[in-house]
Amino acid sequence: MSNNIIGKIWSSEIEKNILDEWKKDDIFKNDGLKDSKNYYIIDTPPPYPSGKPWHIGAAAHYSQIDMIARVARSKGFNVLFPIGIDRNGIPVEIYTEKKYKIKMRNVDRKEFLKLCENVLDETEKEFIEILKSLGISSNFNDVYHTDSIDYRTFTQSTFIEMWKKGLIYLGNRPNNYCIDCGTTISDSEIIYINMETKLVHVKFFLNCCDEFLTIATTRPELLFACQAVIVNPDDERYKEKQGMTLKIPLFDREVKVLPHNSVDPNFGSGVVMVCSYGDLNDVQLFRELRLKEIKSINPNGKTTEYAKQFSNISLKDARNRIIEELQTKNLISKIEIISHRTPICERSKTPIEIISLEDYYLKQVNLKSDLVECSKKIKFYPEMHRQILLNWLNSIAIDWPISRRRYYGTEIPIWYCKKCKFPNVPEPGKYYRPWNEDPPFDKCYNCDHGEFEGEQKIFDTWMDSSITPLYITKFNKNKKFHDITYPNTIRPQGKDIVRTWLYYSILRCLYLTDQVPWKSAWIMGYGVDDKGEKMSKSKGNVIDPLPIIKKYGADTFRFWSASEANLGYDFRCSEQKILNSQKFLSKLWNIGRFIANFELIGEGDKPQKLNSTDKWILAELDNMLKKCVEGYDELNFFIPSNTIREFTWNIFASHYIELVKSRVYNEIDQNERKSALYTIHKCFKNILLLLEPICPFITYELWTKIYSNDDTVKTKTFPSISNEYYEMVSLTQKLIQFNSEVWNKKKVTISSITKKPLSLKDQIKIVIPDELSLFKSDLIAMHNIVIDENTTKSS
Ligand SMILES: [Zn+2]
Ligand SMILES: [Zn+2]
Repeated sequence: MSNNIIGKIWSSEIEKNILDEWKKDDIFKNDGLKDSKNYYIIDTPPPYPSGKPWHIGAAAHYSQIDMIARVARSKGFNVLFPIGIDRNGIPVEIYTEKKYKIKMRNVDRKEFLKLCENVLDETEKEFIEILKSLGISSNFNDVYHTDSIDYRTFTQSTFIEMWKKGLIYLGNRPNNYCIDCGTTISDSEIIYINMETKLVHVKFFLNCCDEFLTIATTRPELLFACQAVIVNPDDERYKEKQGMTLKIPLFDREVKVLPHNSVDPNFGSGVVMVCSYGDLNDVQLFRELRLKEIKSINPNGKTTEYAKQFSNISLKDARNRIIEELQTKNLISKIEIISHRTPICERSKTPIEIISLEDYYLKQVNLKSDLVECSKKIKFYPEMHRQILLNWLNSIAIDWPISRRRYYGTEIPIWYCKKCKFPNVPEPGKYYRPWNEDPPFDKCYNCDHGEFEGEQKIFDTWMDSSITPLYITKFNKNKKFHDITYPNTIRPQGKDIVRTWLYYSILRCLYLTDQVPWKSAWIMGYGVDDKGEKMSKSKGNVIDPLPIIKKYGADTFRFWSASEANLGYDFRCSEQKILNSQKFLSKLWNIGRFIANFELIGEGDKPQKLNSTDKWILAELDNMLKKCVEGYDELNFFIPSNTIREFTWNIFASHYIELVKSRVYNEIDQNERKSALYTIHKCFKNILLLLEPICPFITYELWTKIYSNDDTVKTKTFPSISNEYYEMVSLTQKLIQFNSEVWNKKKVTISSITKKPLSLKDQIKIVIPDELSLFKSDLIAMHNIVIDENTTKSS
């Protein structure tokens, strides 16, 4: 062998050729399952192409999920690593509206759907290209789409199954509503931010006399929907006022002063108005105090007729005009600016309103304790992120609203009887579009009437994506396949969607199969910027992954992603760190170029007797192997990546190879030479095998160039640990220390001949410590040590 088989530098150009090779050989095609029990099923998150450039954190996320698949293959599993694209939901609608400068509700529904599809097709292409260039080892010839007829049929069929089990009901109840998205949304789609707002102190006059109470409110625009005023029962200031009647300013109505423990006497004036609905707390109070709801906001975000002179205007206008009028009439005692914890829509960032609308609900509150129990059956990587799920489970207070007043999603398959309003549900197994189609039946199941109105609403997108564990295992389609592949082995995902995707999948799959969907869940942290701050467009710190991958290559990117942070923790994204990974891969490449100079000494040619230096590095190799396998077992790629880098660079290359260089070039003592070559190759092969899940390209290239003819390694599975020379690792630190001492001494010793510091090749007089005597001959050769008689005697 000679150097010319391996190019001078490792570059992303080589990766492109490898990708072409893999594509030609279709290497991940036969990842489907045979009758094997030895399976490993990955419930890959289907990425959502909403039109934005992809986040660098997402590219890192998918790289690591691919490592899970590759580790499973290296352990000898039959791996199912499907790839799907999640295409339903509001973000694509919002993106489409922006792109074409239209409003969904002003466009023909069919036309709007077509535009969404176009947008999705375009952005999907880009996504798939990024995934492929990252070396994701899924079968891209078989990508599923959550908006395909097949998938939507599946979503509808599972809905019908749950409907028949009585798990779904129609409810008219106050719920979170996003004015911009125009739909009810669930708690799990809401985030809280601190927003500056006005706390307005409004005078409410008592009915009896000229006295007034001051109530402090952040929602003066809802004054007209006030149905009670509450005070803390222990608040001495208002004890006598309880039960009295107040006049609502500006509106000709009266409300009572009621005691309630929820009032914090120290907030504002200690008097609170209860209106329908300022927030979810109001909903609770209306229920408890048995107050009658006043509809205050229309689904279009404007005030209702109850707002009288302020009706049919936006909430913002209503707010300004009501404050103005109150001020004119001297009914405001003061206005404070406070920071208020405000719920906003996760997608459109609009503050959430509470509106009563008719929606379908999937029961979940009654299942809470079962869900807590069942979740214990799932192993969490890392264990600490189980708590995110438990916290969410504990906070669930209402059932899951599953209907949305949107267009781009799976339709709710229901036709209402025009006569008796009965909801007629069709048989499962077909894709139904009730807003556009006649029902597949002639008569109402309830009254035999023959006229129907199709449901206009669609499902919450989590209704589709929560059944991926069932879809990928052919639930209700191929029993044999499903039985051997379900529950799935693992659900990898981000920690931001634990309360949505993870939770809803458990809920839905429990209802449909009585089993938790996976044996384990792997939860990754967020990618943050180099200062540890969340990336966002407004901060301008979002990093686009594509130029980085193009510049540095997939392996550099993947190695950076693995080595940056422990599993589950947020990881910092910076180009400098990515550059450091590139340095390591260059080092690995150069070691490969050096090793390729020498013939392969495999297990078959292993010398009878190994040199001590060789035994020592094999002990260190074992040590590295053990750590890597432990890290891989925990699916924490931080451990193997850093362990491999440390061993390869700081021990194998810096010390071992330097120690044996003279032996590998020494043609006279064949036994010593073979011992070194056998060991070098064994170490390097193991490095490549262990690094493969993290850096599939460079390891593939080096392996094919150096070891393709090595038939001693039949399968490319993880090597086994031998423990043969294990005690020798205790010498490592001493050896490293000694070498550094010699190098330092040469640096500071001025040669009497050249008058310059000694070069590494120059002779040096130094005592080799007793405990390193095993390495004596290699050390002498490595450092060109001159043994003087005195040092030999003293040792
Ligand atoms: Zn919204
Ligand atoms: Zn009917």
